[in-house]
Amino acid sequence: MSKSTNVVWHHSAITREHRHQLNKHRSVVLWFTGLSGAGKSTIAHAVEEKLYAAGCRTFVLDGDNVRHGLCGDLGFSPEDRVENIRRVGEVAKLFVEAGVIVLTAFISPFRLDRARVRNILQHGDFFEIYCDAPIEICEQRDVKGLYKKARAGLVVDFTGVSSPYEVPVNPELTLMTGAMELNQCVDQVMQLLQRRGVLVPNG
Ligand code: ADP
Repeated sequence: MSKSTNVVWHHSAITREHRHQLNKHRSVVLWFTGLSGAGKSTIAHAVEEKLYAAGCRTFVLDGDNVRHGLCGDLGFSPEDRVENIRRVGEVAKLFVEAGVIVLTAFISPFRLDRARVRNILQHGDFFEIYCDAPIEICEQRDVKGLYKKARAGLVVDFTGVSSPYEVPVNPELTLMTGAMELNQCVDQVMQLLQRRGVLVPNG
């Protein structure tokens, strides 16, 4: 799909491994997925605060934020959603190369799009974290008032209402965000990072 020709990859003398040694942690993508209002953003930022306090280099890529700039030309049609996630995946990959733990908060409703991001990263670098809250609860929360608008037909292609959400088949972690406290969810993510050797004990 690349339109660029005559471009040659330049290898840096400073590798990802060097950056890991400097940072004392691995760099990975924590890919939060789920319905609007399921808690992706809240958990991603809370985990980031914990990681920052532990001395880790982190960055949150948040759905609404990237739509101002990087993806400002995209809407919510199926094609635009595909392109949105593709771009975010490429940015996340660059952050991983830079040694940063990236936390992304995108509905990312399509399995194939999430799988594509997984596939452009090295094996073990992509953690799919499903924020599993029933739509009734998301709709009750209606953090941004969008469910109300979607039910009134004022927002088209709204995930869970007028556009599908494809539940992850084999995510690294499922968080029952409709039933659990935020702190419990954050602890589960931190435990996953310990288990998978992202955080070096006493590193
Ligand atoms: P999303 O990013 O998935 O659209 P948000 O993080 O913006 O969702 O909103 C989730 C809302 O649910 C917040 O108001 C948050 O305080 C609330 N909430 C309640 N329980 C949890 C939980 N266990 N995890 C995350 N958010 C929760």
